[in-house]
Amino acid sequence: MILLVAVTGRDCSQLIARLQALLPEIDVQFWSECTDYEAVEFVLAWNAPADLWPKLVNLKAVSSFGAGVDSIDLTKIAAHIPVVRIVDDNLANDMAEYVLGHVLAHKLRLKEYYLKQSAGTWKPKRAYSHQHVGILGYGELGKASAKRLLANGFQVSAWSNSEKHDVEVSTYYSQQGLDDMLGQIDYLVCLLPLNQHTQGIINKSLLGKLQSHAVLINVARGKHVVDEDLLEALNSEQLRGATLDVFSEEPLPQAHPYWSHQKVTLTPHCAAISDLESVSLQIAGNAKRLTEGKELINQVDRTKGY
Ligand code: NAP
Repeated sequence: MILLVAVTGRDCSQLIARLQALLPEIDVQFWSECTDYEAVEFVLAWNAPADLWPKLVNLKAVSSFGAGVDSIDLTKIAAHIPVVRIVDDNLANDMAEYVLGHVLAHKLRLKEYYLKQSAGTWKPKRAYSHQHVGILGYGELGKASAKRLLANGFQVSAWSNSEKHDVEVSTYYSQQGLDDMLGQIDYLVCLLPLNQHTQGIINKSLLGKLQSHAVLINVARGKHVVDEDLLEALNSEQLRGATLDVFSEEPLPQAHPYWSHQKVTLTPHCAAISDLESVSLQIAGNAKRLTEGKELINQVDRTKGY
């Protein structure tokens, strides 16, 4: 059996060495150096070349290299083949810390003070009293972020695909539920998976339902946001500010208006970076399960696509 590492856009040498050490009985190969496509049973994929999939006639399982599976073209993989994603406490903790940190930064007006410092302006103002955070997506990362926010005195609401019941978090689902949540919150955090239902969800209509002092924190995928609509909302005082970690095109092109926008805090897709060791252990665990005929862990629902 070959475990094929079909991860593009990064150096995979350390990852391959670690997987090979964890899986001495399995042949771990890099996609462009594959010696026998028919022997490939398990693929670790992240933006894999489109022409790879039809060659893998004995494919049995696919793993994403991250928490999301939007980097895998699921339409190219037969519906019965399990697709797994990374679920990692370290990743969830990093995300929760990032979300809390940026909510607090907006509450404490840190961006305003950075700008005032560079202008040599002394003008104290009280921190905002806003306490209500709404999270789009109440999955692994949404829940971890909610827990951290609650522990720091914030009120949390969350919107998901299916109805949920939670003692501490007000939960919403459906379009009506989303509209109800948007009108009440002070900070909107996006932690949705990217798919055909969620692409462009943060658009003029959604932004228009937020209170004008609200702030957007997008830590999911850049394509959740319609950039022109966000810029218009920021420029027309319809939205107080935005923290953006992810972009439609990454790296963000130098000419993009986000770079210099006074209401935008921008980070380079670093909110929660996969840790090589925990990712390798999880992938190796699933590869072993596959060879032992056991069910894989952290499978995505192929019907829902996340
Ligand atoms: P997850 O566990 O799959 O949770 C997804 C949540 O979104 C679930 O609560 C789901 O609802 C909800 N959802 C899905 N489609 C929906 C829809 N159409 N309408 C309403 N709710 C919907 O995902 P996760 O592990 O929390 O990760 C979320 C995303 O974070 C990933 O997909 C990835 O894009 C992003 N991410 C970013 C970074 C970074 O560094 N910036 C790092 C890791 C991940 P149900 O619970 O009802 O199914």
